Amino acid sequence: MIKADVTCPHCGAGFRRIELSSVPGTKGEYRCPVCDVGLELLDGSKLVAYRLTIQPSIRGLNK
Ligand SMILES: [Zn+2]
Repeated sequence: MIKADVTCPHCGAGFRRIELSSVPGTKGEYRCPVCDVGLELLDGSKLVAYRLTIQPSIRGLNK
């Protein structure tokens, strides 16, 4: 299991990314739930899970 911290380059939200190379995942794209920017293309060969850990500042989004 690989754990990493990822930051959305658009809104600054922080995520914990967990990768399980021994488990097949879903093919598709993970998008930031805050601003809908694509963060990673998933080929389905492994399971990748994201959890939002740092909410971006509301002030930053409304400028
Ligand atoms: Zn974002």
